[in-house]
Amino acid sequence: MARVWNFSAGPAALPTPVLERARAELLELGASGMSVMEMSHRSAEFVALKREVERKLRAAAGIPDSHRVLFLQGGASLQFAMVPINLLGGRSASYAHTGHWGSKAIEEAKRIGRVSLATDSKANKFTTVAPVSEWSVDAEAAYLHYTPNETIAGVEFHAVPAVAAPLVADLSSSILSRPFDFAAHALTYAGAQKNMGPAGLTVVVLREDALRAAPPGTASMLDYRAHLAAPDGMLNTPPTYSVYLLGLTLDWLAEQGGVAAMAERNAAKAAALYAYIDGSGYYRNPVDPAWRSRMNVPFMIGSGSASDLALEAGFLAGCKAAGLANLEGHRSVGGMRASLYNAMPMAGVAALIDYMREFARNHG
Ligand SMILES: *Cc1c(COP(=O)(O)O)cnc(C)c1O
Repeated sequence: MARVWNFSAGPAALPTPVLERARAELLELGASGMSVMEMSHRSAEFVALKREVERKLRAAAGIPDSHRVLFLQGGASLQFAMVPINLLGGRSASYAHTGHWGSKAIEEAKRIGRVSLATDSKANKFTTVAPVSEWSVDAEAAYLHYTPNETIAGVEFHAVPAVAAPLVADLSSSILSRPFDFAAHALTYAGAQKNMGPAGLTVVVLREDALRAAPPGTASMLDYRAHLAAPDGMLNTPPTYSVYLLGLTLDWLAEQGGVAAMAERNAAKAAALYAYIDGSGYYRNPVDPAWRSRMNVPFMIGSGSASDLALEAGFLAGCKAAGLANLEGHRSVGGMRASLYNAMPMAGVAALIDYMREFARNHG
């Protein structure tokens, strides 16, 4: 068996030791006599496991006691709706439109209430973001929503935006990749499938006092308060296996030195790839260097001519033989994209750079 270097944007590579441990524990977890998948979510074993996973997540991410943690389903996409349903309270919200996922969040919020754009980088094809000092955040806004890492265009905030409104952030593709100030945010959410585990689990971290009454008729499954009030935050069956795998991933993260050590590794991985791209004279990354993502690196060959596109197709076709997978760019951006989440080691980035160098030498 040969595992490839998997650069998928999500669901993404998991650390091999996590998968090995999951395999070893697949048939029987501890002394329970059954797989974690076969347990009642209300069983003493699972409730203890879930509490332990939350404790590890709080410790790893630095989530303060002021904030509650929920393990939900529906992905980040359901949070695009739950956030306005539960935070607007008849007011308006401000959104930073800095990429594809921000657009999705805005579309969903507009179905629920009034939305204004604090900033909009659509005109520059989401390759940079205006300085926060130039944003216009509605003074009455219930919250400002932003996407700390835009997974598709590869644009990342390197600081928390300094605005007066309560902050809401979509952390799907950056959670646990670097230290993050949860205390400075009213609510954050993240699908697990980029940096925390398999798909199916969405982690929500919120300050209860940011919540407003949901509109009459709101289903209880869409109401954070109903989830918070349920025993152990479980209004219904959570994705138990995904919660368990998050726990294994957090154990692995701790063995790696935690989020601070991971942030250094992530910075080094991204720096190596950007340095190669910029110096290659062959590949290019279109993002303003001040806003480049450490997690998702889109890159192109040339300037989009028919022969450039043919070269990109050739580049992608040759990846498999080099043991590299999932480097296709998102259809809205084209070209290639390398996602460098926590589970991707420097050795994988080095293998990618070797392949890129070889390809440029043969086709330049
Ligand atoms: C992947 C991703 C999403 C979509 O997540 P789903 O779990 O598929 O709903 C949303 N936001 C960001 C930043 C993402 O990277």
